Amino acid sequence: MATFEELLDRWDGEQAVIHRDSENDAWIFICMHSTRLGPAAGGTRMKVYDTPADGLEDAMRLSAGMTAKLAVADLGLGGGKAVLAVQRIPQGEQRRALLHRYGDIVASLGGSFITSSDVNTGEEDMDVIAERTEHVFGRSEAAGGAGDPGPFTALGVFHGIKATLKHVFGSNALSGRTVLVQGVGSVGAALADLLGREGAAIIVADVDPERARAVALAVSGSTVEPDAALEQECDVYAPCALGATLSTATVPRLRCRIVAGSANNQLAEPGAAELLRDVGILYAPDYVINAGGAIGINYLEVNNRSQADVDAALQRIGDTLKEIYERAEREGVTTAAAADAVAASRLSA
Ligand code: NAD
Repeated sequence: MATFEELLDRWDGEQAVIHRDSENDAWIFICMHSTRLGPAAGGTRMKVYDTPADGLEDAMRLSAGMTAKLAVADLGLGGGKAVLAVQRIPQGEQRRALLHRYGDIVASLGGSFITSSDVNTGEEDMDVIAERTEHVFGRSEAAGGAGDPGPFTALGVFHGIKATLKHVFGSNALSGRTVLVQGVGSVGAALADLLGREGAAIIVADVDPERARAVALAVSGSTVEPDAALEQECDVYAPCALGATLSTATVPRLRCRIVAGSANNQLAEPGAAELLRDVGILYAPDYVINAGGAIGINYLEVNNRSQADVDAALQRIGDTLKEIYERAEREGVTTAAAADAVAASRLSA
């Protein structure tokens, strides 16, 4: 297991803030991977880790991912991430105290790091952090924020799926297409709704059977057991639950032509991207297709743009994917590598 020193030594990011909050029995890690294109932006993850170093490593890895994601989304933002590594997920006053302490640290960074919600944090938490710093977004609508980013993310994935259908089949029509939505939470349920309205046949998989049934009913679709989801025959597999579902072991089980969904870090290993290409499945790189939440919040809360501007920007996710697919074909690389190349060229421009 690596120590803090070893992790910092091999990290290619710009700045890491490490704070031991003994009062709340937590570690606060803020990793600013890159401010090359603007303030380092990224969510605040609250999580129980085996060791504090695991929390720091997660923040480092996730912050690098944000640099690439925000570079491709072209928002004038760099990449960052914060992790609140806790012994157990705090509630009530203890949670407020930790979020206030964290908010003070974010404030002390003077806007070089700006944050929003992530795993185990939500809009109410952003409202609490906002009591200490202005550099927090994804606040509740009641507090003047943009609220839940899930619907923005879903709309971006929807446009991404249509652009990917067009590339594979020559038509972006959803009618006659079958989409498997794996995970129907904040993003997946909204995505199923959008796809269903345009005539796609929806198959839902969720570990929460009640939720799966309710969403399937609402979109006149069907359900499949979560364990059988990967083998389900469909045109589009949309992973909207957990990451790492694509590996050299799982790709041969897929019976789809397209993988396009919101889950972060879908590729469990780099070889999965090559295998997807080799078996003729077009993969929409996760951090490109799932940028809608970041785009929506940034447009509405940071730049005071209109809903029409947000809609246009989410539609552009489809255009960006088209460029990535064309670049991948031209250069003979995977779509994941083509997305990384677009990010790298924006960062070096
Ligand atoms: P969520 O927690 O609201 O929903 C996740 C759903 O997946 C839940 O219904 C859960 O029961 C289900 N699920 C969990 N494990 C599953 C499994 N093994 N098989 C099938 N279903 C399973 O989360 P969300 O906000 O909708 O986000 C979904 C994914 O998209 C996550 O990977 C998240 O990191 C990513 N993402 C979300 C946003 C956003 O705006 N919310 C933005 C970018 C990326």
